[in-house]
Amino acid sequence: MDLKKAISEIRSQLSWDIKEEEKGDFFSIDSNPISKVHSISWPSKDSQFGEPTDIEVLHELVHALFVEKIHPLFSDSHFKRGTPEHWAQAVGCACYFATDWFVDHRIFELVPEEKKEEIRMKFEFLCESIKEKPPSGDLFSFISTGLLIAQAIKYLGMRIQTSGKLKEVVDAFLSTDPSDPTIKRLEQIVNKIIKVYSPLCVRLVKEGEFEVWEIVRRE
Ligand SMILES: [Zn+2]
Repeated sequence: MDLKKAISEIRSQLSWDIKEEEKGDFFSIDSNPISKVHSISWPSKDSQFGEPTDIEVLHELVHALFVEKIHPLFSDSHFKRGTPEHWAQAVGCACYFATDWFVDHRIFELVPEEKKEEIRMKFEFLCESIKEKPPSGDLFSFISTGLLIAQAIKYLGMRIQTSGKLKEVVDAFLSTDPSDPTIKRLEQIVNKIIKVYSPLCVRLVKEGEFEVWEIVRRE
C-alpha cells in the first residue's frame, strides 16, 4: 500500500471530528471522548520540522484510530485530578513514547518500506548529532532515543550495543509486543519505562465516565 492510500484508509475508519492546527514545533494529538474531537497540532511551517510529511500525518491519524477503537489514552495522557505537576511531567514522557511504540508498529504493517526508511534516517541523524555534541540527558530525548534504538533493532535488524539505563529503556520497548495494542499492554510498557528512572508507577482508575492514569509510588 502506498502512503496516500494508507492515509485515506485510516481517515475512512475514523468517525470523530478532526481539528488540525499548526502551532509551535511539536507534533501532538489530544482526543476528547466527550466532544468526540481529535485535536492534532503540527509544527508550524517555519519551524525546524517544516511541513508534516505523509508518514507524520499517518502517525497522528493512527493515534486517533487507536483512541476510537481501543482507548482514549492512546493519544494524550490524562491524569487523575490533583496529580502533582512534576509527577505528571515525569510520567507523561513515558506515556508519549509508549503509545508511539504501538502506533509506529501499525504504520510498519501498513507501509513497511517507508517506515524502515524513516527509522533509518532518524537513526543516522541521531548518530550524527551525538558526534557533534553529547546527548543533553533530558528525559524526553532519553526515552525517544531508547525508542528509536529499539525500532532500529526490531525493524532494521541492526546490532546496537547499549548499556546502563539506556539499555533498560530499549529492553522495556523490545520486551513488549506492539502488534496487539490493548490498554493493559500500554499500562505495562509505561510502567516498564518509568521504572528505569523513577520510583513511580501508573494504574488505570475511573474518573467520572472515563479512565485516566493515577500515579502512585511503586510498592
Ligand atoms: Zn505519536
